[in-house]
Amino acid sequence: MTAGIRLVLLGPPGAGKGTQALLLSAAFRIPHVSTGDILREHKRLGTPLGAEAATYMDRGELVPDNLVIRMLVERLGHDDAAGGFLLDGFPRTVPQALALEGVLAEQDWPLTAVLRFVVADVELVRRLDQRRDLEGRADDDPEVVRNRLDVFRQQTEPLEFFYLERGLVRDVDAVGGVEQVTKRALAALDVAEAP
Ligand code: AMP
Repeated sequence: MTAGIRLVLLGPPGAGKGTQALLLSAAFRIPHVSTGDILREHKRLGTPLGAEAATYMDRGELVPDNLVIRMLVERLGHDDAAGGFLLDGFPRTVPQALALEGVLAEQDWPLTAVLRFVVADVELVRRLDQRRDLEGRADDDPEVVRNRLDVFRQQTEPLEFFYLERGLVRDVDAVGGVEQVTKRALAALDVAEAP
């Protein structure tokens, strides 16, 4: 088995996954792989992939599996992924999780854990409203937000069972201060302090 910590972060939009992803990847010195960030970069650069992805992203829908899977596999082929990685926003569907499982098995890179960030719905809507004011993300429009939550419930939540069956899920209470949540995530991974 290859050394390195390999994490997947799961949780609804607005759970603070992105913030925790940055802090945890820095703490473990592993690359933060966010499919949302990669797609936004394609959009910004105006690549064909970016243009196609934009039509889904702007509505709060998922970009088709074949596109994101190809993008993710390409990213995991970079040298830095050999020392571990943290996936933020991928997988989001069962086919994506199956594809990931296949790639990781080929490399002998088993996942270390799946951190599940747990937040109540009312709190999520409150946070997403706030983020819209602060960051002005196009997909933080109220209707798009509602759609993203629906998409999460329908397509991404089933992944929790996928990973529960594999014994990989560690729950993190995501309500509280940023530092407090990071501490809980580290504790869930049996790490008292950042390594
Ligand atoms: P995020 O920054 O992770 O919230 O992603 C922003 C948007 O990018 C999502 O609402 C989707 O439209 C798209 N996206 C990101 N990751 C994926 C994925 N794994 N599968 C499908 N669409 C994705």
